[in-house]
Amino acid sequence: METVESREERRGVAAILDGAHVAEEIKRDVARDVEALKGEHGVTPCLVVVRVGEDPASAVYVGNKVRTSEELGLSSKHLALPADTTEVRLIGEVTGLNAREDVDGILVQLPLPKGIDERRVNEAIDPSKDVDGYHPLNIGRMTLGQPAFVPCTPAGIMELLAREGVSVRGAHAVIVGRSHIVGRPMAQLLLQRDATVTVCHSRTPDLAAHTRRADILVCAVGSPGLIRGEHVKPGAVVVDVGMNRLTGEEQAREFFGEDSARRIETIRKRGFTLVGDVHPAEVSRVAGRLTPVPGGVGPLTVAMLMRNTVTAARRRRGL
Ligand code: NDP
Repeated sequence: METVESREERRGVAAILDGAHVAEEIKRDVARDVEALKGEHGVTPCLVVVRVGEDPASAVYVGNKVRTSEELGLSSKHLALPADTTEVRLIGEVTGLNAREDVDGILVQLPLPKGIDERRVNEAIDPSKDVDGYHPLNIGRMTLGQPAFVPCTPAGIMELLAREGVSVRGAHAVIVGRSHIVGRPMAQLLLQRDATVTVCHSRTPDLAAHTRRADILVCAVGSPGLIRGEHVKPGAVVVDVGMNRLTGEEQAREFFGEDSARRIETIRKRGFTLVGDVHPAEVSRVAGRLTPVPGGVGPLTVAMLMRNTVTAARRRRGL
C-alpha cells in the first residue's frame, strides 16, 4: 500500500525541520523557570519593547513578543513612541529603562526611522539588559565564547539543530548573509560547535558553488526564493531565515507548487503571504530537512527572547 512516507520519498520531499515545535518546547521550559523565579524569589522577569513609528511589520513583531511574554508569565510593556521621536529622546528613554530596577530586558525594535542612528541607540542599552544581544560587549563576549546574551535568531537556530538531532561537529556549514544580527553570530556559534564554516554575501561570486557543498545551509538574505534547487546538496539540512512578503499570485504559484492554492487564498485575505530566501517547491525536492516559512525560524526567535529575558532577571540578581 502506498503510504505518505513512500509518496514523499518518491517525490523527494524534505522533512520539516520543525521550528514551531521546538519553540513550543523552549517556551514550556521558560514558563517553568518563570514560575520557579516567582515562587522561590518573588521575581517576575520584565521585558520592555520599544517601538518608534508605525512600520506595520514591526507592529506585528512587537505584538507577538508582548503577547508571548504574557502567555509565559513574564511582565511585559510596550513603549510606543511617535515616528518623529528624536535620537536624543529615544536614548533618554533607554537610559531611563536602564535605571529601573524592575526592568530586566530592553529591546528596541528595528528598523528605526531615518535620522536615528541604530548604533548609538544600541550602545546606550545596559549590556546586562540587552536581551537582543546586539550590544558590542555581548557580541564580543559571544565571539570569545564567554557567557553573553546571544542574538535570538542564531541562538534559536542552534537550539533547533541541537534538539532536532542535527549533527554540527565536523559538518560543513554555509551561511548566506553576513548581517550583525543573523549571519555573523550564526557563523561564530557554528564554529564554536566545531562546524567548518563558510560565509557568503552579495559579493560572493558563484554562490551555488559554495552552497552546494553545505551539509547545513543557513540563508539570511531577505531575497524571496534566492536559493533554488541547484544551490542545495541532496540531503542537506536547510534553515531558511528569510521573511519576505509576497503579494503576487503568479509568483505564489511559481514558489509554492502544490501548496499554492492555500497561499493564494492567504494573499487574497491578508494581502500577502510569507516566503523565505529559499525557493520552497524546488528546495524541498533536494534538501533532507527544511524549515518552513512561516513556522520555522520566526517562532524560535521569539522563544529565545523570552529565555534571554529570564536569564537577565537571574543574572541581575545573582540567582
Ligand atoms: P540584512 O539586510 O542585514 O543582510 C542581508 C545579507 O544578505 C547581507 O549580508 C547581504 O550581503 C546578503 N545578500 C544580499 N543579497 C545577496 C545575494 N544575492 N547573494 C548572497 N548574499 C546576499 O538582513 P538580515 O540578516 O537582517 O535579515 C535577512 C532576512 O532574514 C530578512 O528576510 C529578514 O526579514 C529575516 N529575518 C528573520 C528573522 C526571523 O526571526 N525569522 C529574524 C531576523 C531577520 P552584503 O553584506 O554584501 O550586503
